[in-house]
Amino acid sequence: MTTLFISDLHLEESRPDIGAQFLEFMDTEARDAEALYILGDLFETWVGDDDPNPHYADCKVALRELVNYGTPVYFMHGNRDFMVGDMFADETGVTILEDPTMLEMYGTYVLLSHGDALCTDDVEYQQVRRMTRTPEWQSVMLAKPLKERIAFARQAREQSMAHGEDADMSIMDVNEEAVLELLQESGAQILLHGHTHRPDVHHIDLGDRDAQRIVLGDWYEQGSVLRWDENGPSLEVLPR
Ligand code: MN
Repeated sequence: MTTLFISDLHLEESRPDIGAQFLEFMDTEARDAEALYILGDLFETWVGDDDPNPHYADCKVALRELVNYGTPVYFMHGNRDFMVGDMFADETGVTILEDPTMLEMYGTYVLLSHGDALCTDDVEYQQVRRMTRTPEWQSVMLAKPLKERIAFARQAREQSMAHGEDADMSIMDVNEEAVLELLQESGAQILLHGHTHRPDVHHIDLGDRDAQRIVLGDWYEQGSVLRWDENGPSLEVLPR
């Protein structure tokens, strides 16, 4: 059986084509899978598990139905949906994974990550990341009224887009040294992540051994999936 890995769908109400493709994927290929791993940024924004956004409600139902059908679903936070919490996990039945998490696939050690923590050249972003991942920051945020949180998320998104336009594109990619260090420290043979929206398979020479860095693509214009069965991993496009 095949294990599936996806990330960076950036589901949002204003992009119903992405949602439709996700729901179709959940209803078909994902049902036949051994497991589904979602490596962050499933949602474009997540302001708290109490958000009644109907588009997100439909996505939660699809996750619950897949889990009930018998496909385990694992979810890792991305930089957009890092506020996904325990209530979401209870509602959907997904298991939330730490970033990074090591997984063994047919004897190969694979380190799963969203990927944003590896973009260490973007110092400004890493500072924001550290701050917003603390329980203190999150509890202050979650105590605010929903309306205020939605407005805050919109503002944060606009700032992040402006930062992306200003910043040198190279700082928006993973830092090579951070990648080497993570592969060496963890002992993983493959590092699998998303976030950069640069789908590719990179071969890496660690000196004493070879490794790979596999990058999942986003779902803006088409889907992206890594299918992994007994023949190994295969990074593929899912036509819309
Ligand atoms: Mn991301």
